[in-house]
Amino acid sequence: MTKPPLDILLCAPRGFCAGVVRAIDAVEKALAMHGAPVYVRHEIVHNKYVVESLRRKGAVFVAELSEVPDTTRPVIFSAHGVPKSVPAEAASRTLFAIDATCPLVTKVHREAEVHHKRGRHILLVGHAGHPEVIGTMGQLPPGAITLIETLDDVARLPPPADQPLAYVTQTTLSVDDTRGIVQALQTRFPELIAPHKEDICYATTNRQEAVKRVAPLVDGLLVVGSPNSSNSQRLREVAERAGCPSARLVLRADEIDWSIFGAIKRLGITAGASAPEVLVEEIIDAFAERYEVSVETVSTADESVFFPLPRELRGEPAPNAAE
Ligand code: SF4
Repeated sequence: MTKPPLDILLCAPRGFCAGVVRAIDAVEKALAMHGAPVYVRHEIVHNKYVVESLRRKGAVFVAELSEVPDTTRPVIFSAHGVPKSVPAEAASRTLFAIDATCPLVTKVHREAEVHHKRGRHILLVGHAGHPEVIGTMGQLPPGAITLIETLDDVARLPPPADQPLAYVTQTTLSVDDTRGIVQALQTRFPELIAPHKEDICYATTNRQEAVKRVAPLVDGLLVVGSPNSSNSQRLREVAERAGCPSARLVLRADEIDWSIFGAIKRLGITAGASAPEVLVEEIIDAFAERYEVSVETVSTADESVFFPLPRELRGEPAPNAAE
């Protein structure tokens, strides 16, 4: 039986960002240097495939440091960043802590600290409950930061007290939604102090731009990524707003709902910053079993960002360390 034709437009850049590569490399390097187990506080990045493959190599994922029984084993903090209470607890127990927080998240932490030192109240634009937001709010004492999630939150903010205001944002937000919220904040608070450089990171911005280019050209778009990945969810929303009739988030090929792809002629594919390229390939292969696929890459930016490993992991592996 002949297969129907399908043009796949692959968004570029897509998939792993420099912060995710660094965090995964940190766990692998810790395993190579110190052997298993290596403890990791929370999912190192929001992707089950990545977490499971590290688990098989000897990583042990824990929700809290109290679950780390052995103070001689490395414990790694995830790329999303942690509240200050976490390294403080690690120090009080003399744990062997390694911080894999993305340097672009750390930049936001430092900005918030500087504003606080200068007597400013901080507005954090972000999503409640996301680990990055928990980490950023946890850099300062309670009450120093107010979380802003929506335009309604801006309208509900009380009139400014006798304290200057500054804002910072989560790194993985929708560029367009955030622009709207920041404009509303600036309208209400014209003296509002902005970050020197955008907090939404290069990877989030570039992946959203590529999706905006592809979305109007395709009948459907798949975002390879996890439901708990903020930047992946934003890519799905961006695709729909940019004119794609159907945008879905999918973790693996076996999750694809084939019933929605009946008469499709052109499909866009992208991947969130925590989704490995091997899963994109798996999904293209699954389409190739059902369609006569031709694949074209639509590129909107080149990326060459690289972050070195945390200092504790820059040495050579021990000669007889476990795989
Ligand atoms: S999405 Fe951006 S902030 Fe988050 S880990 Fe990647 S580079 Fe860092």
